[in-house]
Amino acid sequence: MTTTEAVKPPIDKKALLAKYIQERDKRLRTDGNEQYLEVKGRLAHYLDDPYTPLVEREPKTDHVTFAFVGGGFAGLVTGARLVEAGVTDVRIIEKGGDFGGTWYWNRYPGAQCDTASMIYMPLLEETGHMPTEKYAHAPEILAQCQRIGTQYGLYDNALFHTEVKDLSWDEANSRWVISTNRGDRFTASFIGLGTGPLHVPKLPGIPGIESFKGHSFHTSRWDYGYTGGDPKGALMEKLADKRVAIIGTGATSVQAVPHLARACKALYVVQRTPSSVDVRANAPIDPDWFAEIATPGWQQRWLENFTANQAGGNAEVDLVQDGWTDLSRRIRAKISQLPREDMTPQKMLAAYEDSDFEKMEEIRARVDAIVENDEAAQKLKAWYRQLCKRPCFHDAYLQAFNTPGAHLVDTDGKGVERITEKGFVVGGVEYEVDCIIYASGFEVGTEYKRRAGFELTGRDGLTLSEAWAEGMRSKHGIHVHGFPNAFFVQPTQGANLISNVPHNLTEAGRTIAVTIKHALDVGARQVEVTPEAQAAWVELLLNAPGRMIGAPDCTPGYYNNEGQDPGPAARLNVGYPAGATAYFKYLDGWRNSGQFEGLAFR
Ligand code: NDP
Repeated sequence: MTTTEAVKPPIDKKALLAKYIQERDKRLRTDGNEQYLEVKGRLAHYLDDPYTPLVEREPKTDHVTFAFVGGGFAGLVTGARLVEAGVTDVRIIEKGGDFGGTWYWNRYPGAQCDTASMIYMPLLEETGHMPTEKYAHAPEILAQCQRIGTQYGLYDNALFHTEVKDLSWDEANSRWVISTNRGDRFTASFIGLGTGPLHVPKLPGIPGIESFKGHSFHTSRWDYGYTGGDPKGALMEKLADKRVAIIGTGATSVQAVPHLARACKALYVVQRTPSSVDVRANAPIDPDWFAEIATPGWQQRWLENFTANQAGGNAEVDLVQDGWTDLSRRIRAKISQLPREDMTPQKMLAAYEDSDFEKMEEIRARVDAIVENDEAAQKLKAWYRQLCKRPCFHDAYLQAFNTPGAHLVDTDGKGVERITEKGFVVGGVEYEVDCIIYASGFEVGTEYKRRAGFELTGRDGLTLSEAWAEGMRSKHGIHVHGFPNAFFVQPTQGANLISNVPHNLTEAGRTIAVTIKHALDVGARQVEVTPEAQAAWVELLLNAPGRMIGAPDCTPGYYNNEGQDPGPAARLNVGYPAGATAYFKYLDGWRNSGQFEGLAFR
């Protein structure tokens, strides 16, 4: 410590924990996920696609080797790997008007990735694209999706603005029958599912929500026709004479608010729970530096390095250096300071807690340092552990509250009381606005069928809802017994690396391509995980320590099932016990051995 550094008073942990519990208790409610409205019926217009007009086409009745549900990262990386393996007959079915998934829908101003572009954006090396910024903005990520689609010929056979309505296994012909909302009924030898965890917008169940006479939309369907501006961040000039409310202060709102504050006559940021907002420190990527580091295999090296730093590995260097690796580094540093005899699980957990308390104190101090209005500053402070909610990083969000015309409307954990014809009510006060923007997030924790929009019916009429009635059961999070030739592309029961989901997806995509290639090479019509192999994998997972995030004592949110007991099935929402680095190494060995242990090819 230098002599100029002030000595920080010790943290009163007991008082802090009491404050955390007090703030959580304000927000606990008995209706959990039921508090949100399913967007359908008279609310269905909130789902309309504002970006791409619908194109009429003839229904498909043909056969393809591989069909994939979802045109986001999961479908693109799996499709690309299949094409590389020689399976070019790939059809991606996507409800949006183009590839991109999350990045197709989320075009709100300021949208950007939170994990460094170098590891977040898939197939950078294959496509030869250098990200322009450490944290790329949404248009660049969408363009990368389109680039992958073009380079691998995935557009040729894709069906956009198409929603799968049913997927049924045809045992006699060893193929899947796919029906859609566009009248298609075609077949596929193999299918992949990558519908993503956060794609069905939800609305808060605020009384009167249908009565508002002004304009309103969800952040994932941004109406630039109304606001002006564009996804690249041009000023939303049409808001200059508008009073706008944005409801919600999660990761989406944190990115959009600075742009709204700059544009609106009056902006009301309606808060139920503050986000923790740490430093972003975005910067352009220097092409000279990139040319130096982008030697063959660079992206895989970066992916592995990030995962090693973030999820239990032992990397000597930190190539990525972002908020996630910083978080892990701090925890490791704290634990490594323990004397050898104190390396017990309890003391290690206590050291982890200490590092979290310190970090959150820093984040709260940052609010005081930036926000000029003291009352707003106090209300913008997050009183929970950093991983209770999605950590946010931004260098203009807190500053936005210093803009004239930008108002924080804090609801003291209770949410908006009512929506009226003219605006919204908080604390008995009606705020009249021209526009309400819902930054209220996406469905999580509702059943798979509701979120996917279809049922999967496997062998002997077994549905996925039945197979997973008591929780997800799979091998590697990819194969499910009873559902031959079907492959799931998602993190759970695999690496479960939440900090960089694309790494999970690229590894799954690679594995699926190798597996399908093998099935085709040996002339197998069916590939399926055996019940024994699936049971053994689930047994192995049950030894995992459980998710570090989303503990029940956290403030409610989608990380912890809105504070409700998620039931025993949630025990299965875990990853490989030895961690993400070990899992990726294991999976690499598994697919390259050529044995495909646990799968039956017939
Ligand atoms: P969230 O679910 O995180 O946030 C929804 C917000 O709406 C919360 O602040 C919530 O409050 C608030 N809310 C809900 N009901 C009410 C109500 N009745 N009255 C007032 N406020 C209400 O959604 P987001 O779209 O922000 O983010 C979803 C996820 O998408 C993120 O967690 C992240 O995983 C991902 N994302 C990633 C980004 C990136 O990587 N760059 C950027 C944006 C999103 P409360 O907290 O009290 O529930």
